[in-house]
This record gives sequence, structure tokens and C-alpha cells, in this order.
Amino acid sequence: MSAVIEEIRSPGVTVSIEVFPPKSENGAVRLLEETARIQEGVRVAFTSVTYGAGGSTRDGTLNLVIELAKRNPGRVVAHLTCVGSNEEALSRLLSAYHESGMTDIMALRGDIPEGMTREEAVSGGFRYAADLVSWLREAGGVSSIGVAGYPEGHPETPDRAKDLDHFVAKAGAGADYAATQFFFENSDYFRFVVEAAARGLEIPVAPGILPVRDIDQVVRFAGMCGAAVPERVLSALEPYRGDPEGFKEKSADLAAEQISGLIEAGVRHFHIYSLNKSDIVLGIADRLGWRR
Ligand code: FAD
Repeated sequence: MSAVIEEIRSPGVTVSIEVFPPKSENGAVRLLEETARIQEGVRVAFTSVTYGAGGSTRDGTLNLVIELAKRNPGRVVAHLTCVGSNEEALSRLLSAYHESGMTDIMALRGDIPEGMTREEAVSGGFRYAADLVSWLREAGGVSSIGVAGYPEGHPETPDRAKDLDHFVAKAGAGADYAATQFFFENSDYFRFVVEAAARGLEIPVAPGILPVRDIDQVVRFAGMCGAAVPERVLSALEPYRGDPEGFKEKSADLAAEQISGLIEAGVRHFHIYSLNKSDIVLGIADRLGWRR
């Protein structure tokens, strides 16, 4: 069984971190240092690397994934998006991953690129993430497939019941686990997993935790992905706007409190959006007794 699946199903608490490929070579070097720092401080079950998000280049992503996979064999998850792509291009990328021993994939549709209509974006043959999951299962050679979930709903499908059906369909297509979009109210996550389970979902759903680095940035992210930032979070962080160290401490407090609430409810795997930085992740680890 893939180490990724083992970790996600583990009865003990496990943590994965998500990183994004930086645009510059210097950024890539810094990222490798930051991920190494996180791993020195806390046991990381796996590192997942986003694809095509935030303007990262395809080559940059491939190189970073390969380098991380060399350093952490069997413990790197490559995200793969299907919008604006086709079977041939995805096959090539998958082969490159396989050649470097990378067989753990997070299958996503991806956002419709600016300036493209939805029909143009899916003209390569993959309309939804579930199509990519089915294709990966047929292609074979993949040891785990993760998919995305949205506790507060995905913005393109305001009908919550339909969105949940679409989410559950990804498990039906062959996904092994899901990681969620970030959220701040644990009640949103609990409702989501209960509603998905009522529709027959059996795969684990790892909550996505976003330690806030910047108030304006988190409000912008939330606006783009249909998540809410509660007043409670904003007002806790607002006094630290001009105090970067105090801000990080408060942010780690908030994320650790959120994770504690989830642990109390029985959640065991956490997917942390590191934003390529070690400091707040290590701050969370200190507060939760996760430090090596
Ligand atoms: P899907 O599951 O296909 O859903 C997209 C929309 O289509 C939803 O509204 C859904 O309800 C609807 N839908 C699905 N199936 C049907 C159907 N049969 N009929 C009608 N409607 C349907 N983006 C990146 O570009 N790169 C990344 O690396 C990346 N990583 C991510 C990691 C995580 C953990 C998360 C939560 C998100 C990530 N994203 C990434 C963002 C993601 O690509 C976007 O949210 C995208 O808009 C949806 O992708 P999806 O895989 O959830 O799509």
C-alpha cells in the first residue's frame, strides 16, 4: 500500500503539507530549505505540490516535484489538473512522474484559466476531476489518488446537494482520499463529512488548514474559493498587523486551536497549507506537541 494512504488511514495523528512551485530558481532553493526545516521539526507524512496554481510554470512544477521526490521517496504527492490539457499532455507528464518514482497523485480539475470559456478549457476531453480520476485508474501505475473537497461548497455549484453529489462521485471514480479547501469553522467540516457519508462516501477526508500569513491575502483567497473568514479570526489578528512576529504567534495559536478541536472530534490527518514557509507550521507543532 502507498505510504500516502497508510499515513492518511493511520490511527495516530499525521500531517501533510502543501507547497506551491515558486516562479524563480531562488524561490525553489528557498522552498527546499523551508520544507527541510519543517521536516526537521515535525514528522511530515507527505508533501503535496500544486500544479499550475498561482501562475507556476509546468517545467518549474515538474523539476520541483522531481527534486522533492528524490529527497523524500514515496512521500511526495504531485497535483495534476486537467483543464486546458488533454490526454496526450497528461500522459507525458504522468510518464515523467513515473520515471522519477512518483506515483501518488492529487487529481484536480483546476480553475478555468482567465480569458478561456469553460468549453474551451475542457475541450481536451476532461470536464471534471472525476473524469481525470477515472482516466488515472485506467492508465494504471498510480499508487494513490487524492481529490479536493469543499466544506463550504464549491463556488461554481451553489446547489450544495449537487456539489456534494459531485464530490462523492470522485470517490466512486476511484479516489482514495480527499483533502479539503481551507475553512475556519470546524462545524463546516463536520457538516460536510456527515453529509458526504450520508451519500455513501467512505474515503478519508483530510481537513485543509490554512495558517493565516496576511489578513488581506486570506480575505482575497477566501473570496476566490468560496470560503468565509469569520470575524473572530479577523479581529484576533487585526491588532498584529504591524507586528510580524506577534502575527505569526497569534496565527499559530488560531490554527492549533482549530486542529485541537478537530482532534477532539476524532480527526487524525491534517493537510496544512504551508504557503512555502516553515515558521507558522513549526509554531503549530510546538503548541500541539508535534515537535520532534
Ligand atoms: P471538480 O471536482 O471537477 O468540481 C468543479 C466544479 O464542477 C464543482 O462546482 C462541482 O460541483 C462541479 N461538478 C463536478 N462534477 C460535475 C458534474 N458531473 N456535473 C455538473 N457539475 C459538476 N488548483 C490548481 O490549479 N492546482 C492545484 O494544484 C490545486 N490544488 C488543490 C488542492 C486542494 C486540496 C484543493 C481543495 C483545491 C486545489 N485546487 C488546485 C483548486 C481547484 O482546482 C479548484 O477549486 C477548481 O475550481 C475545482 O477543482 P476540483 O478538482 O474540485 O473540480
